[in-house]
Amino acid sequence: MTVEETNLAAVATWAALYNTDPDRMIDECYAVDPEVVAPEELRITDSATFHAMEKAGREAMPDRHSEVLSTAAVGDRVFVEGVMTGTNPVNGTPLRVHWMSVLTFADGLIVKDRTYMDWSVFKDFNRTAEYRAADAGLDLTATAGPTPATDRPTTTGATMTTAEPLPSTDSISAFYDIASQVLCELWDESFHAGYWESEADDSSNKVAADRMTDEMIGLLAPVDGAEILDVGCGIGTPAFRLAGAARARVRGISINEAQVVEANRRAGERGLADRVSFDHGDALALPYADASYDAAWAFESLIHMDRLAALREISRVLKPGARLVVADLLQTGPLDEADQELVRDGLQRMSASPMLTEAEYRALVAEAGFELEEFRDVSRHTAKMATRMVESTDRRYDEMVARFGEEAIELMDLIRSPAAQLPEMGYLLAALRKPA
Ligand code: SAH
Repeated sequence: MTVEETNLAAVATWAALYNTDPDRMIDECYAVDPEVVAPEELRITDSATFHAMEKAGREAMPDRHSEVLSTAAVGDRVFVEGVMTGTNPVNGTPLRVHWMSVLTFADGLIVKDRTYMDWSVFKDFNRTAEYRAADAGLDLTATAGPTPATDRPTTTGATMTTAEPLPSTDSISAFYDIASQVLCELWDESFHAGYWESEADDSSNKVAADRMTDEMIGLLAPVDGAEILDVGCGIGTPAFRLAGAARARVRGISINEAQVVEANRRAGERGLADRVSFDHGDALALPYADASYDAAWAFESLIHMDRLAALREISRVLKPGARLVVADLLQTGPLDEADQELVRDGLQRMSASPMLTEAEYRALVAEAGFELEEFRDVSRHTAKMATRMVESTDRRYDEMVARFGEEAIELMDLIRSPAAQLPEMGYLLAALRKPA
């Protein structure tokens, strides 16, 4: 048999096993730790993650079925065109999506798999998003084919070179079941960093947290009558302040239902319910029409998300020319192996995605199709946050354990972990614009 014939036979097995036994497909058709890439979607370089991703895919759409429509073998490559069908488990509607794979073989096994398809059809149950490299700067240049290297953001942060699983919405929501309550006690009713003018500024946590909201409002520059979306709204504290700054309508959304109930209760209490309201939902599948908002902010909420997918989804609901303001963690310097591990562990424990460097952030924004109007590294202004958090935790540790139990311990230990004290853990504010 020629190499091409051998590879085509392997593709027939590959296609059959995909539908009957994907785990066997991975073990029998792929080399150990193959490179599996779906451009801009995922990049897997180890078999364990590959198995986990296939499992997630099956769970997301149990009746998925792929059919090969055509194959062409050239040298060590086979080009496969196919169609996948199944039922969207969220709303029961049938799905049908075409795909195309370029498989590179060595000794009859797939060493490289590049698969192209329109992933947006899965967006309302997109488990594979959890396996995306959170990095817009995925270094795919080596296998990117005709895409010029300069069009691709480069990968600069060591944390971004592996496709770490991103937090699931369940784990984020569970984290906030307890965090909302403990943070209200230990920090403020805003669940975001404080902003201190200088080292000498001794403002309280609450004053500093409100000042950060004011910085965000300044960047957003809301106009009266605007429809504004607050992505990851907590219990609404920043939204109320925003609504106080302009006669705008603010709609918040959070993945944690208890927060939404509390935020709506507070809106009523403040007499703001007619123009400030909150929905329970996922920022990665916003329950809003295309181009329905004049402005939006994601106030320390992207840290929990696949940032690229979230930015694209927010862009979808924004009107052309609308502004999106973002507050997020920022990695301000290189981390050695040990610190990287500390940060990775800390972020995972708070259901957060890896933090990005400025270069990575700029690349992310561009990749998501936004223009970056302003990027501010405000790490100097948030530096007091870490020690303030530890101080208030130490002061009320026993009381929190007594009131909220074991789970409060986990959160407070996280607040007191050395990762939270690393100076490289900085903070950014950015103003983005959806092109007009
Ligand atoms: N912006 C608020 C809360 C910040 S905490 C404030 O500054 O006070 C992060 C918020 O993001 C939480 O409300 C959390 O529930 C929300 N969040 C995280 N992931 C989300 C997702 N996928 N969809 C919607 N909200 C999400």
